Amino acid sequence: MKVYILFSFLLLAVICSSSVDAQAKFGRLCSSHSRNIIRGCDRHGCGHYGAKRGKGKHMGLDIACADGDTVYAPFDVKLNGRSRPYGNNNAIDNGINLSGKGLCFKLFYVQPDRTTGTVKKGQRIGRMLPMQRVYRGITSHVHVQMCNRSNPTKYF
Ligand SMILES: [Zn+2]
Repeated sequence: MKVYILFSFLLLAVICSSSVDAQAKFGRLCSSHSRNIIRGCDRHGCGHYGAKRGKGKHMGLDIACADGDTVYAPFDVKLNGRSRPYGNNNAIDNGINLSGKGLCFKLFYVQPDRTTGTVKKGQRIGRMLPMQRVYRGITSHVHVQMCNRSNPTKYF
């Protein structure tokens, strides 16, 4: 019985230490805006999570950015390799997998400087790709998507 209780506490400790940081907030992502601004609606669609995308749904959150912007680490992050949004090699088909603050997420439409290692909050992780070349008139943006496709809005 004592062993069982001890084991239960141990399990609880493990669960707590691996849980997501409820206070996790994304710091500034793009050099042309001093704070993160969620893309509203434009002729190509809306930037919020769950917005309509053809027959499907937008499974991320779009943060307004300008083409060519420097993109910063939103907090201390680990770089977990490249992530391509479309796989069609167009001008914006690039991105990166990241983790930090207990969160696993992707940033799309970014040319990463590196795809391994760690980057401190506010340091450059890459450059916003030329979105206007692909979607003329869109609010250029970086797409933030959680690895489990959950809603990232509470972290902004
Ligand atoms: Zn998006």
